[in-house]
Amino acid sequence: MVVGLVRYRVVVDRAACISCGAAPAACPELYELGSDNFKNRVVEKYSVKTDENVSVGEIPEELYSCAKSGADVCPVNAIKIERID
Ligand code: SF4
Repeated sequence: MVVGLVRYRVVVDRAACISCGAAPAACPELYELGSDNFKNRVVEKYSVKTDENVSVGEIPEELYSCAKSGADVCPVNAIKIERID
């Protein structure tokens, strides 16, 4: 298997986010509280779409466990991760 071909989509429901900061603390490579509304977003490097209600990113497999750690600590289940086929 060639490393790095599998990619994942990360979807942050910013409307649901309560800005607790847990996701950015768990995975600062991928998540940050946005300067627009202080809700979690995918950092610019990986973001394919970010507005006030949602932030969508695409990440390589190497970042999956980091992304998942952020999703797992979210108290309102605002982060979803799915494999891109
Ligand atoms: S853990 Fe959830 S509620 Fe907290 S900042 Fe991240 S997305 Fe928002």
